[in-house]
Amino acid sequence: MQQGSHYLVTGASRGIGLAIARAIVDAGGEVTGLSRTAGELEGVASYHFVECDFSRIGEAAEKLKALRKRIAPLDGLILNAGFGRFGMLEEFSAAQIRELIDVNLISQILVAREFLPQMKRRKAGDIVIIGSEAALKGGQKGSIYCASKFALRGFAQSLREECAAAGVRVTLVNPGMVQSEFFSDQNFRPSSQPGCHLLPQDVARTVMFVLDTRPGVDFDEIDLTPQKRVIERGRGGSQVL
Ligand code: NAP
Repeated sequence: MQQGSHYLVTGASRGIGLAIARAIVDAGGEVTGLSRTAGELEGVASYHFVECDFSRIGEAAEKLKALRKRIAPLDGLILNAGFGRFGMLEEFSAAQIRELIDVNLISQILVAREFLPQMKRRKAGDIVIIGSEAALKGGQKGSIYCASKFALRGFAQSLREECAAAGVRVTLVNPGMVQSEFFSDQNFRPSSQPGCHLLPQDVARTVMFVLDTRPGVDFDEIDLTPQKRVIERGRGGSQVL
């Protein structure tokens, strides 16, 4: 990554997106962060917060169009914003299904659609998509979340083929369980014991590795997981998977 490079990061207010945005800023880059809340980087000179609620898809599309017209050319996109909702399919309302797909999938596609043409014109740039281990394997109570992440994976594979001739690199990063607020509304979380969870910084380091690699080298997909799969449920007790 070159000094002064400018990246758009969705979901940069906390967790994985915040760690990626911070790593870019620390390396001398500039970040435009899109999320509903500003987060910890607010006030940092090279961080520009744009309030955007990806569950309001129509408004988000308009905001992206306006942003594209006033922002300097970008060196890359980090499509990270997302949330988890888990349960048996019949426990989801239609509105809940819509919201999850809109935030995790459609909005990220719209961001790419808006900013890709200028990257193709410049014949350079990175699009890094934060998928999940849920993009690789379905599981009980994960139907909607997995559907959103499997779809992101197909999107990434197709986009990679579409963009190669234009010199734009598309990388899918699939983390296993990361210690973040992602789990604050869930009745499970990765164990806090060593080796049982990733940290947001682990994912950020992987993304920086991609951004620091010379143009023309493709990674396709990078999977990273904690060494041990131990889940804590409810208020206590852990289960080795
Ligand atoms: P997190 O700490 O909850 O952060 C989620 C980020 O997404 C926040 O910045 C949040 O910002 C943003 N976001 C959520 N809903 C949004 C909305 N409606 N509009 C705009 N922004 C929204 O979770 P995380 O662990 O960092 O997750 C980041 C990504 O990694 C997600 O795509 C998730 O699926 C993926 N992932 C997570 C794990 C894990 O175990 N944690 C594993 C694999 C993949 P605001 O709330 O400020 O809007």
